[in-house]
Amino acid sequence: MTNAPIFVTRPVLPPLSEMMPFLERIWSSRILSNNGPLLQQFEANLASYLGVQHLSVVCNASLGLVLSLRHFGITGEVITSPFSFVATAHAIRWAGAQPVFADVDPNTLNLDPETVEAQITPQTQAIMAVHCYGIPCDTEGLAAVARRNGLKLIYDAAHAFGVRKGGAPLVAEGDMSVISFHATKVFHSFEGGAIISPDRQTKVAIDRLMNYGIVDEVTVSEVGLNTKMSELHAAVGLAMLPRIDEIIDARDRVANRYWQSLSQIPGLHCLCPPGQPGHNSYAFPVRIGQDYPISRDELYTQLRLEGIFARRYFHPLISDLPMYSGLPSTAEGRLPRARAAGDEILCLPLYPDLAEADQDRIIGIVSRPC
Ligand SMILES: *Cc1c(COP(=O)(O)O)cnc(C)c1O
Repeated sequence: MTNAPIFVTRPVLPPLSEMMPFLERIWSSRILSNNGPLLQQFEANLASYLGVQHLSVVCNASLGLVLSLRHFGITGEVITSPFSFVATAHAIRWAGAQPVFADVDPNTLNLDPETVEAQITPQTQAIMAVHCYGIPCDTEGLAAVARRNGLKLIYDAAHAFGVRKGGAPLVAEGDMSVISFHATKVFHSFEGGAIISPDRQTKVAIDRLMNYGIVDEVTVSEVGLNTKMSELHAAVGLAMLPRIDEIIDARDRVANRYWQSLSQIPGLHCLCPPGQPGHNSYAFPVRIGQDYPISRDELYTQLRLEGIFARRYFHPLISDLPMYSGLPSTAEGRLPRARAAGDEILCLPLYPDLAEADQDRIIGIVSRPC
């Protein structure tokens, strides 16, 4: 008998019965989109859960990032991380701006404020930092660089749902933050996301920008986009939200079991120790060092042969993709710490209902590779 494949993640769904009341409301009201009652409820519940005041739900985080840059009129250079999902840099290009890559901090794998500052030119207008794996950026350091140089600071908080830093919501940092509710993230609505604004006026401007720039029946004030979320997606979000604490607890338990079994293995470094207050156990990245018997890619392949699909997040680096690899900021030798991380990190499967027996198979291979 062969084992069923194990993927790096697997979404949780609410029981269908809990979807039905929402579906009945949609079918009887026939309001399907355009800031409908479920969307408004979802926004209010999310803002309250996350502890923020000014939140706009959007159809995905990629477009949320594009809107954030458009809102601030950013068309110059944006300093960003090469160690992220490709959407981060693509959003900068879609906004009509130019990504400039800076190296990461070797411990957090997030943008290092010093390397950011070294990349600033007269064309620089913004920093787009990523809380990779939900590990908080050096928000004070980045804010100081932004302030000193008159730059906007936007966070790609796609991984950071519910993360708190020093007791405060991480997504309240910076001039704007964008969370993703994609199926593979900690919290999902199939597809979706949210933009966190610093004040009411900014939220109103974002809400207009995401609805074609429409002010009222006869007034369109700017070239807006359509990044609205439908009532159907909002219904999923509403049914998921009451389960999120349970989901994060279950993720923590899986992360904890990995930690118990893997944290003492020579040459293997676990990047996200469990039990950090406010963390969301989005991923379980391990870094394969010199003392480990085989390379990261050999471990990846060995797991694959056993039907275990761990992922090399983030390899290749965004800066190595063909549309970015020619930029001056990506020249040979420029991003050594991001490059090392891209070569050495493997994310192990982690989702709330990963069976212990399956996790034990993964642990067995990672702790005794051959
Ligand atoms: C998933 C992800 C995105 C894109 O989110 P979508 O909601 O799928 O558009 C952006 N940045 C990072 C770091 C991500 O992991």
